[in-house]
Amino acid sequence: MQKCKKCHRQFKWSELYLLPKWKDSNEPVYCTNCKTEHYLTNTSNFIQLLLVCLTVAVTIYISYFVFSVNLILSCLISFIFTLPLSLLFPFFSNYYSR
Ligand SMILES: [Zn+2]
Repeated sequence: MQKCKKCHRQFKWSELYLLPKWKDSNEPVYCTNCKTEHYLTNTSNFIQLLLVCLTVAVTIYISYFVFSVNLILSCLISFIFTLPLSLLFPFFSNYYSR
């Protein structure tokens, strides 16, 4: 898990989980100890976006085209696979402080 660049305090998973913040990925995460702002690196942001897009594309393709599940249910299945994946993002995301 990511540590603060200034005071080396380890962030909690809940502090780094960004799902509600995906509208603005540049929104900083603040260290609760020293209040230093940390921003998600572009590489981590790209990897997260790529993983979500790939998961959505693969699950919709498999459920809709291979198993002939209707499109709405395919999207729901896709969401069911994507949500647990997103829960893992705080473990491998990198942040930097300005
Ligand atoms: Zn800190």
